[in-house]
Amino acid sequence: MLSCQDAVAGLHGKCSAESQPGRKPARQRVHSEGAGPRTHARSHPAPPPRATRRPSTRRLPVALATVAQRLPEGAPVSRRIPSPAPHCPAIFAWAQRRNDNKKWRSGARRRLRQVCGGGRSGGSAEEARRCPGPQGTGDLGLALLLKRHPLSLRGSDMGNDDAIGGNVSKYVVLPTGYCGQPKKGHLIFDACFESGNLGRVDQVSEFEYDLFIRPDTCNPRFRVWFNFTVENVKESQRVIFNIVNFSKTKSLYRDGMAPMVKSTSRPKWQRLPPKNVYYYRCPDHRKNYVMSFAFCFDREEDIYQFAYCYPYTYTRFQHYLDSLQKRNMDYFFREQLGQSVQQRQLDLLTITSPDNLREGAEQKVVFITGRVHPGETPSSFVCQGIIDFLISQHPIARVLREHLVFKIAPMLNPDGVYLGNYRCSLMGFDLNRHWLDPSPWAHPTLHGVKQLIIQMYNDPKTSLEFYIDIHAHSTMMNGFMYGNIFEDEERFQRQAVFPKLLCQNAEDFSYSSTSFNRDAVKAGTGRRFLGGLLDHTSYCYTLEVSFYSYIIGGTTAAVPYTEEAYMKLGRNVARTFLDYYRLNPMVEKVAIPMPRLRKGKPPSYKHSLLRGPASNHPNGKGDKKSSVNHKDPPNSF
Ligand SMILES: [Zn+2]
Repeated sequence: MLSCQDAVAGLHGKCSAESQPGRKPARQRVHSEGAGPRTHARSHPAPPPRATRRPSTRRLPVALATVAQRLPEGAPVSRRIPSPAPHCPAIFAWAQRRNDNKKWRSGARRRLRQVCGGGRSGGSAEEARRCPGPQGTGDLGLALLLKRHPLSLRGSDMGNDDAIGGNVSKYVVLPTGYCGQPKKGHLIFDACFESGNLGRVDQVSEFEYDLFIRPDTCNPRFRVWFNFTVENVKESQRVIFNIVNFSKTKSLYRDGMAPMVKSTSRPKWQRLPPKNVYYYRCPDHRKNYVMSFAFCFDREEDIYQFAYCYPYTYTRFQHYLDSLQKRNMDYFFREQLGQSVQQRQLDLLTITSPDNLREGAEQKVVFITGRVHPGETPSSFVCQGIIDFLISQHPIARVLREHLVFKIAPMLNPDGVYLGNYRCSLMGFDLNRHWLDPSPWAHPTLHGVKQLIIQMYNDPKTSLEFYIDIHAHSTMMNGFMYGNIFEDEERFQRQAVFPKLLCQNAEDFSYSSTSFNRDAVKAGTGRRFLGGLLDHTSYCYTLEVSFYSYIIGGTTAAVPYTEEAYMKLGRNVARTFLDYYRLNPMVEKVAIPMPRLRKGKPPSYKHSLLRGPASNHPNGKGDKKSSVNHKDPPNSF
């Protein structure tokens, strides 16, 4: 067994035979022996000076690469998308023209805004609006299209001199001088599938590969999400993958986060052991922060998949909603609120008792949105947790449906999700900065949601009480919230009530990390915009949840989030409305009658209602917490 120190030596012991046939030679590496140790993930010793590197005696991190052996049994790794075909030619012609223009490239963001404002380039806007787009899912092939039409992804923005036009597609890495058919062990990289992202692969040595994230479409600034497969592996083949072009410097990789992995025969996502993962500033890559991880392939027939966090695709989301619709619940409604630029669905769910939808009925509305930032996949798990709880036969869910109307738009940026972007839409917009003036053609999903919210706001029968937008955070632990600052001190205090109650109900939610601000940079966010629009009885929050882990009170140990833990946070968000509206006494009443399903057998009640300490609701004394049974088994609703 090798030590951590050995592993680091392995990670940095790059072979000097670097050029590959048919490929650009690896970059000239500048050595600076006196530069001292690099910034490393804390708890790991600094690497030895580079002078110790000798390819012939290089030791790989043998002991670090056993994660594959611990993965469980199961089914296929990822559903491939059949025969991708080019779509939206107008959009790409439009983007391409601008890409060919040097001036445009130098100020792409600014220009895009001008175009979007309908000013000088109105014709392009019209082109985009007419864009035909695909029907259904699984046939977009944008990745391939981008390969043919590289967008403005060049130059210093990328941290290297080469364009990354699109995702790699079954890219075979052959050894230097080798011209024959690929043999076992000649790795094949692929990211041409839904939510896939890998832009380029450089082989550094027989064992080591530099991997480049494909930047967000039409916006080279964002490079965080990766999701790719590796196949044609040899048993016991050991590799080091370096992700070399992150656009962020701060990262939870410094705190023990590790990439996710699964394989064909073991389809459950697992985190790599943190000890296999290093995050450091690398002189080989213009002092970019690089995340390196060691891995040992163990099954030759398996396809392995690696990702930044648990993927949650548009197609998965559609299947989930389809399955809910088939249950014919009379308190669950799904409608299409609009379409994205590539004509994917913007779904709107309404969950409430049918009585609340009678004409003339007064409605208290809780509005929830998610996935405006497509790479923030935990947002979808939290959102699914909320939905699953609200449609369940849990007594609390039934009381909530009786008293409130939940409007949920779980995926505000379906194109970005499909494309494997981190932060932007197809056209490179961070939609969560465009609430002030969304354009119906450039930001159609945002425009649709905003129209609906304003319509509800103007309806005297509707009281929009909460707006919660769900995100994931790449540098913070726990769940927490951002809220607004108000001049009215009482309103400010009232705004703090919901996060305080949520903190009591969810062990992973931190009130101390919750903050209230009015930063200028966040002026275009949903939380800020709606906070300014809605009246004093409404509260608008951004709910953030860590990409990595939470720390349970009284300890310092980070507990990595699982898909189930994200969903549990969602369930706890939902049940916190019971405390907020002081509906606890109603729970006993509804627990007696039978559930109101149209069809199907009623699920059993497994939850006992635990009584907690009095809530800190400002208007009530002695209110009890809803349920803080955090040890609920999964899927117990
Ligand atoms: Zn976000």
